Amino acid sequence: MNKDCIFCRIVSGELPSETIYRDDEVIAFRDIHPQAPTHVLIIPREHIPAPADICAEHQSLIGRLVYVACDLAKSEGISESGYRLIVCSGPDSGQEVPHLHFHLIGGHRLGKLV
Ligand code: AMP
Ligand code: ZN
Repeated sequence: MNKDCIFCRIVSGELPSETIYRDDEVIAFRDIHPQAPTHVLIIPREHIPAPADICAEHQSLIGRLVYVACDLAKSEGISESGYRLIVCSGPDSGQEVPHLHFHLIGGHRLGKLV
């Protein structure tokens, strides 16, 4: 828990969120500024600042995050139509929130990646 981190504060319940999934390691909630009809953020409860900070002991957690994201794509009804699972790391990526998160984005035809 990092008290200055907005996503840690969502994990702790201190800040509100439209949470659609939670377990002992992972939570998922709707992005406050959705870029598509479905825009969900899947995050670990643990404060890992960025993909650059992932280490060997996080491997099963990362697998869980991806599994949950793909499962949510099914429950959101976008698994067949298609979606993107995006993760940003560091300044050049435009990462704004320094707590690891996967964006699950879909629900309409998406534009070019960059
Ligand atoms: P990134 O640019 O990859 O760091 O993405 C951060 C995402 O977090 C952006 O899409 C924001 O809209 C989203 N975001 C920021 N604050 C909140 C919040 N309080 N609740 C939900 N989503 C948020
Ligand atoms: Zn955090």
